[in-house]
Amino acid sequence: MRKRWFSLAAAGVLVAATLVPAAPAMAAPTFKVPFPCGQSWSGQTRSDHSPAYAVDFNRTDDLGDAVVASAPGTVDRVTDLGGTSYGKYVRIDHGGGYTTYYAHLNGFNVSVGQSVGYGKVIGWVGSTGGSTGPHLHYEQRLNGNDIQVRFNGTLALYWGTKTYTSNNNCSSGTGSGTVNTAGSPLTVRSGPGTGYSSVGTVADGAKVTIQCQTSGTTVTGTYGTSSIWDRIGSGRFIADAYVYTGYDGYIPNVPRC
Ligand SMILES: [Zn+2]
Repeated sequence: MRKRWFSLAAAGVLVAATLVPAAPAMAAPTFKVPFPCGQSWSGQTRSDHSPAYAVDFNRTDDLGDAVVASAPGTVDRVTDLGGTSYGKYVRIDHGGGYTTYYAHLNGFNVSVGQSVGYGKVIGWVGSTGGSTGPHLHYEQRLNGNDIQVRFNGTLALYWGTKTYTSNNNCSSGTGSGTVNTAGSPLTVRSGPGTGYSSVGTVADGAKVTIQCQTSGTTVTGTYGTSSIWDRIGSGRFIADAYVYTGYDGYIPNVPRC
């Protein structure tokens, strides 16, 4: 009996060690490129960067461009270090020990304690602190330690420069726009072109939901010349040249018809 009792005890210890791992690590949040949906930015990593795994982001004329939260979380720092280091920076706590840093900002759009979701504008690209030109310095950390950056679970390029296109907070399949004709109602056509029959109008200033976009006849409107047509209902199309969508060309994440 004694011998058997010992072996059961040993088995029990083994089971306990197997089933109760110490402090299980939380899965990393799905981090997104820290810019609005559809934007492409050049991200550079350098082995002499401090900290090493930070990414510096640039694009043409980027001063003042919006910087957005790369994952949901709570803002826990909105700090201005003046002319040194990060300058104006924001830190977001994503839980599980994960934080992200957004540095050299021109200004802030959030405050400490604020909850943010994907795509929330937290500030604007600047050149504050120890920066020699406008860019976003971006970091992911785990328990305070600089970690290699991942977007949508994919490791960033180390070391070098790569273009990253944001899918941060992209709407799920529909877009929106505002009709701007500077006065008269806009003709709705049964297909994507001026040769299709008129099936009604939408008022100047009306908001429209865009189900999909396609190429049709070229139209010159309030926003220039474009061959893009927006489907706003079944058998209902309007010329995108008269619609403010926030994008030149096709709206990211809105399907082609
Ligand atoms: Zn940097």
